[in-house]
Amino acid sequence: MVQCLKFAPYFETASMFVFHKKTQLQEHLKPFREKGLSIGFVPTMGALHAGHLSLLEKSRTENAFTVISIFVNPTQFNNPDDLLKYPRTLEDDVAKIEELDPHIIVYAPSVSDIYGAHTVSEHFDYDGLENQMEGKHRPGHFDGVGTVVSKLFEIIRPDVAYFGEKDFQQLQIVRKMTQKLGLPVQIKGLPIYRESNGLAMSSRNARLSAAEREKAAVIYKTLKTAQGLFGTKSAEQITNAVLQIFEQEKGIELEYFEIADEATLQPFEEKIPGRHYRAFIAVFVGDVRLIDTIPLN
Ligand code: AMP
Repeated sequence: MVQCLKFAPYFETASMFVFHKKTQLQEHLKPFREKGLSIGFVPTMGALHAGHLSLLEKSRTENAFTVISIFVNPTQFNNPDDLLKYPRTLEDDVAKIEELDPHIIVYAPSVSDIYGAHTVSEHFDYDGLENQMEGKHRPGHFDGVGTVVSKLFEIIRPDVAYFGEKDFQQLQIVRKMTQKLGLPVQIKGLPIYRESNGLAMSSRNARLSAAEREKAAVIYKTLKTAQGLFGTKSAEQITNAVLQIFEQEKGIELEYFEIADEATLQPFEEKIPGRHYRAFIAVFVGDVRLIDTIPLN
């Protein structure tokens, strides 16, 4: 018998499937798979916002069933304080999903359901993609990402998995991992959802004060400036312009700004016809770390 945890203990009106155990989720998905119905998958760490919901929306239009995972993955956090302060809002998340579509299946596991007794990462070789930007500044981060995504793929066995371009390096790394391991899942990347002031939506934005949110609008403004300069200026000139903007900003610290090739993530040197380039940025607003990215050509 399929055992499921209805969310009713939390929401009287809810009639959704929210699984905390992989065995129960797998049991539930078995008949869908046997009928050959396609399963779309959206991995998240919860504290859902419109960006996450856009991934769900896409998945539900393209698949017979959609599964979302809500799991704050400890092995991808290099900063213990960041892990501790990461917002956890499962009840609100489930309410948002239910409003979008109550047929979406939620998998919200415990750490032990994913990792068993040993919460450790495997090591992955992503052909150098892991050595740039986030990989440089967050040691071990992409081993943690690869570990959790491969475990989730193994549990859910989706046909299609949806990721945001907000974490563009992660998207390329998941594509690489899938290709290298020969996993039978299609990876789709979707555009960034932004607040009205341009700030990329992020679960971490919940930790910003109203004044900090306003201040953080400079991140996207800076990326737009870089995009405008890309046609005529060198990487060095663009980077200098960005550094100047941040020198004048109080309460915001630039961690890195890079222009890189979308496919290899190698730093941009000169324009090669047919290649696509992107600017990537990471900043601290107070102690909250935010990232963003924009295509340049
Ligand atoms: P997270 O919960 O931050 O791990 O994000 C889960 C998924 O949502 C990832 O694939 C992210 O890239 C994606 N995502 C996060 N923020 C946004 C956004 N503002 N717009 C679109 N997708 C996003």
